[in-house]
Amino acid sequence: MPTNELRRVRDPLAGIRIPTSSGTAERAIELLDPSRTAVITGAGISTDSGIPDYRSPGSPERNPMTGSAFRASEENRQLYWARGYVGWERYQLFEPNSIHSDLAALDPLAIITQNVDGLHGAAGSHPIELHGSLHRVVCLSCGTVYSREWTQATLAELNPGFLASTLVSPTDIETNPDGDVELDQVAGFRVPNCPLCGGLLKPDVVYFGEAVRPDVAEAAERAVDDAAALLVLGSSLAVHSALRLVRQGAKAGIPIVIVTDGPTRADDLATVRLVDRVAPFTAQWRAMNA
Ligand SMILES: [Zn+2]
Repeated sequence: MPTNELRRVRDPLAGIRIPTSSGTAERAIELLDPSRTAVITGAGISTDSGIPDYRSPGSPERNPMTGSAFRASEENRQLYWARGYVGWERYQLFEPNSIHSDLAALDPLAIITQNVDGLHGAAGSHPIELHGSLHRVVCLSCGTVYSREWTQATLAELNPGFLASTLVSPTDIETNPDGDVELDQVAGFRVPNCPLCGGLLKPDVVYFGEAVRPDVAEAAERAVDDAAALLVLGSSLAVHSALRLVRQGAKAGIPIVIVTDGPTRADDLATVRLVDRVAPFTAQWRAMNA
């Protein structure tokens, strides 16, 4: 079974406790001039849009697809794309929430997001997408980028009747943050290749075990370099690509504000740490800069 090749990922937050808050929202906002603040966002800001966070209580256990598993096996690609094809029907309905629109209105120096849901862009921001976006599909051979809409239409053409055959309602099933669903039957599912060169098509997202694209990592580092303050929203910083940016900011001596209701790997680096929901905080930040 191809699923056996998917790696179970160790939880980097194991043993880390939720800290108590230090400081106040008012103090945090004093430190955060939007035009000089780099904001790092994680899955916790999209839960208000209905996209589940892997780390929320009650989240299903999951075996994320790895980049090497995707490349190695036609069966894995078939599994991924079949799930993604069904899941996208619901995923594409998610809309930005008040946090996305507050940040778009505040227009900070930079938004660096770990999210692949495209909701910052939908709200009108131009984020640095550390882990790519599910809204794009890339050819692994020639690098051509395709829209997810084109891919979805092509999958529908190649697999007539598949959605109906899954016997699940695509808009009423539990969708995980990668936009796919659990399906048992993917045998016979046809996966498209690049129309230009025949190469493998992969969602333009960084899988577990893959590195952040160097130009994207550099853009994020530059943004932190240019910032006078760093704000982390809704991220546990479990992923190294985001944690290292916070360490970079701490090393540069800029204030670091972390707002999220769970533990993070950088709580000891925070100047102000609010153990709270993100939406009330961005609403207050926006109101005080109106
Ligand atoms: Zn190609």
